[in-house]
Amino acid sequence: MNDSNRTVKIAVIDGDARQRYLASLLAEDGYDVSSFCPGDTSEPVSDAPYRAVIFPVKPKENINDQIKRFRADNGAVIFSWSPCCDTIAEMTSDGWASFDFAADEALAIKNAYLTAEGALSLYMNETSTAVRGSHILVFGSGRVAKCVSGVFAALGADVTMAARSKGELAWAQLSGIHTAHIRDGGALSALFLRGVDAVINTIPARVLPAMPKGILIIDLASAPYGIGEYEAETVGARLIRAGGLPGKYAPESAASLIADVVRRRIGGAGR
Ligand code: NAP
Repeated sequence: MNDSNRTVKIAVIDGDARQRYLASLLAEDGYDVSSFCPGDTSEPVSDAPYRAVIFPVKPKENINDQIKRFRADNGAVIFSWSPCCDTIAEMTSDGWASFDFAADEALAIKNAYLTAEGALSLYMNETSTAVRGSHILVFGSGRVAKCVSGVFAALGADVTMAARSKGELAWAQLSGIHTAHIRDGGALSALFLRGVDAVINTIPARVLPAMPKGILIIDLASAPYGIGEYEAETVGARLIRAGGLPGKYAPESAASLIADVVRRRIGGAGR
């Protein structure tokens, strides 16, 4: 607890377990934290100025409508995920600075690791076989794909990464991950023929190849996702769209990552 933070007011807009942990972590730092229900604009808000308002990943109401309830302190910041240009323009004209969590690379990488642990947990719940010795086909070679491949491989899964970047595939090979170019239909067909226990997609584009009947697809990507529900049903695949895993599987750890970013950005002595 730091006494110099007591005068710094922070509003946390509720939305998921991660936001609730975030409010507690910042309150433990000594900040004057208030939590608000998303969309409930009837809740009274103190007249005192706020240094930060923190929105969840998918706020239920328009950010601009909600922010009008708060008065900006000196150096006040609105934290949100991928705000649109109009939202940023309106916020900044009201004296707020905008911070986009999605543009923070370190946060994205650490969040990708939590996503991978969530995908592992999901896989374990959805299958009746051990991770060790399982055949996992990961689409993509970005942050989430790297973490997913690493987490499954560490438990002894036979992991193949399919992507378009030859450089990233070379890095994966050096870490003991099998690779296939995403457009190498022959290599992918051979993998499916041998047997794949799960496809884990991280590519937010409809580029997945044809897949065998009944296969488990864990789609971690955001819209437009790797495969449509209709396409998956057509091939009899078991499709699980698994968004927001850090907030579901490790909300306290996910909140701690966000709290670090907020402390760095708004200053105050922190813990
Ligand atoms: P990233 O680092 O940007 O990786 C994206 C990957 O998709 C890259 O390998 C990229 O290939 C590939 N890609 C994009 N468009 C492609 C196309 N048309 N054809 C082939 N490959 C394509 O992103 P990330 O941080 O790993 O996140 C991946 C996805 O997961 C995003 O949609 C993100 O929103 C989502 N996500 C989900 C969760 C969750 O809880 N489920 C958590 C975090 C993130 P190149 O490098 O060759 O462009």
